[in-house]
Amino acid sequence: MTLEAATCQMCGRLFMKQSRSPYCPSCSEVDFQNFLKVRDFIREPANKQTTIGALVEATGVSELDITRYIHEGRLIIKDNPAMSIACVRCGKATNAGKVCSACQAEMQQELQGLQASVNKTSARAYRLD
Ligand SMILES: [Zn+2]
Ligand SMILES: [Zn+2]
Repeated sequence: MTLEAATCQMCGRLFMKQSRSPYCPSCSEVDFQNFLKVRDFIREPANKQTTIGALVEATGVSELDITRYIHEGRLIIKDNPAMSIACVRCGKATNAGKVCSACQAEMQQELQGLQASVNKTSARAYRLD
């Protein structure tokens, strides 16, 4: 296995890359601890109604990092209705994840439409009239 040098995307230090993580070992550890702090906080029944702002204040973890955890699929905020991030597709506030549920449904439909048009070439299209 060959080690390659990479620049840590958090502290900018050069480090030997040993995993897919874009962060150096010490930043990876800090990042993981931050993630645990955030996850444990929103899991508390008393904190179900927390907002991103309150979460940032309570944990000291930046909104950018929290958003990243959600985008990476590590942090699930479905059970926290007051938490929301901007959908990467339409920009609307959502707590469904990276993409809001409306967009997820649309993307699903687009996919089905694509599959249907592929199927049409082999099966004959039918009409209602
Ligand atoms: Zn670092
Ligand atoms: Zn959307």
